[in-house]
Amino acid sequence: MGDPLSPEIDDFVNVDRGFIAALEPGVIKTPDGRAVWDSDAYAFLSAECPDTANPSLWRQGRLCARQGLYEVTEGIYQVRGLDISNMTLAEGDRGVIVIDPLICVETAAAALGLYRAHRGDRPVTGVIYTHSHGDHFGGVAGVTDGDVPILAPVGFMEHAVSENVYAGTAMTRRAMYMYGATLPPGPAGQIGMGLGIAASTGTVSLFPPSVDITRTGQEETVDGVRMVFQLTPGTEAPAEMNFFFPQRRALCMAENASHTLHNILTLRGAVVRDARIWSRYLSEAISLFGAETDVVFASHHWPTWGNSTILRYLSEQRDVYAYLHDQTLRMLNQGHTGVEIAEMIQLPPVLEQAWHARGYYGSVSHNVKAIYQRYLGWFDGNPASFWQHPPVETAKRYVACFGGVEQVVAKAHDFVESGDMRFAVQLLQHAVFADPDDDAAKQLLAQVYERLGHSAGNGTWRNFYLTGAQELRTGITVTPVDLGTGMAAALSIEQIFDTVAIRVNAPAAWQETITIDWVLEDGPYRTTLRHGVLIHHPAGDSAQPDLTLRLTKTQLLGLLAGQGLNGISHEGDPDALKRLLSHLDSPDPNFAIVTP
Ligand SMILES: [Zn+2]
Repeated sequence: MGDPLSPEIDDFVNVDRGFIAALEPGVIKTPDGRAVWDSDAYAFLSAECPDTANPSLWRQGRLCARQGLYEVTEGIYQVRGLDISNMTLAEGDRGVIVIDPLICVETAAAALGLYRAHRGDRPVTGVIYTHSHGDHFGGVAGVTDGDVPILAPVGFMEHAVSENVYAGTAMTRRAMYMYGATLPPGPAGQIGMGLGIAASTGTVSLFPPSVDITRTGQEETVDGVRMVFQLTPGTEAPAEMNFFFPQRRALCMAENASHTLHNILTLRGAVVRDARIWSRYLSEAISLFGAETDVVFASHHWPTWGNSTILRYLSEQRDVYAYLHDQTLRMLNQGHTGVEIAEMIQLPPVLEQAWHARGYYGSVSHNVKAIYQRYLGWFDGNPASFWQHPPVETAKRYVACFGGVEQVVAKAHDFVESGDMRFAVQLLQHAVFADPDDDAAKQLLAQVYERLGHSAGNGTWRNFYLTGAQELRTGITVTPVDLGTGMAAALSIEQIFDTVAIRVNAPAAWQETITIDWVLEDGPYRTTLRHGVLIHHPAGDSAQPDLTLRLTKTQLLGLLAGQGLNGISHEGDPDALKRLLSHLDSPDPNFAIVTP
């Protein structure tokens, strides 16, 4: 497999290969002047790695911080480093096809503008969403009005809205930690997240696809560009696809192969992914397209050129997911738990040394725990584990056993001195949860988190640690995040009622029975609140409702946002609606994490 150092040389050559121009300055703003993207803030990464960063992660940050327009191969271009994801542009007979229009309309429009400044004012003749994650479609309204073919893997719309809808508030709060969104970029602060430098914060949009890719081997030609598709459901996203450009001998791997070990379970929280299927689809991609591929690119990071290098790269990506899966299963069948396997597992030297398989975004440690979770769940099988006290109650008891917070902090100091930061965290976590007003415990825990963050080779671990340290020192930073109002219109009626049902504060509603019929454009629905549960289904019940409302989906969303019955025709008792709404709780976008 050659010199293990050669991949490093290739990465720094490949990341600059085909460079045409950067966006100058590297700042993208909304029309009213708010910056939604700032790559100039990461110029510090060109310096040598300081002692506040892990050298391997610093190297990755440096690679991710490159921005501009690049030629991938004749007729295929990428704008990289103007969002966490890449926009790829495939030139056709009349115009250009946009693959993955970034997170927000502002960065997408700027990326397309940079392309047009150097390749001419080509019209956008098609859009492709490689998968159902927001960093691959949210900017679509920045590149088209939606009147062109939009290709996506089957199931795209359902997953694009459903993956983040029910647990969305908690995921967003945890994502603030994962992306280090409140950390200042800098040598001691945010240096990227392994997958890219940062996530943009502009206006999110979504046009539904007009062409479903439903099977592997499906061919489509858009604006004279022929593409052969491979569906990869259940890999990095529930709806995802790779595709090949036979005329260009170029392969797009979506987000299934990038220059990091990816997440089997992203730390912001998600339904756990399937490492086995992921590896199988990488195998299939190699056998379908490997022999004819001269360049492989993805929707994050830089491309890889040269057939033998590509085959090695894709097979190592395949092997690392298969290895983690199979070895975790081997060891769990010997009785080891996820936490134990995460410490025991060792990658073979070839995979260990492959830069592209390193844990910058996913990690061997948290992926192994995720694989355990997928098969066996949160419980490790030991009865000591299934009925523990929750954190605050546990903390109080530990602290009492030690003889008080002061003693716990003193012991924690000893572990810090001896270099065991991990156990120092366990002790100090008990001290802070038992007595959140004890400043000595909080300050020491913040220091330990900072040291762990600065030494972490994984970008998301670093961001979690440093955000934890920051919140212990200065409290929770309230972030003015738009929780997907741009996406609300894309929810189905079922999903809208589901989101209402999960807001019912049940104990206060135990005694209530409220039945409402909602006559919408696509048919009537009935909701019944009873026993603290909101059940909903298409209407068909003959029992008399308390209230019947005739309204549009937009009016329904407005009504749930507290706009009242303005202009909505109704029969029955309007008080029924008031009572239902009074039982709805609001999610807390700024809940505490490192304090109780
Ligand atoms: Zn992505």
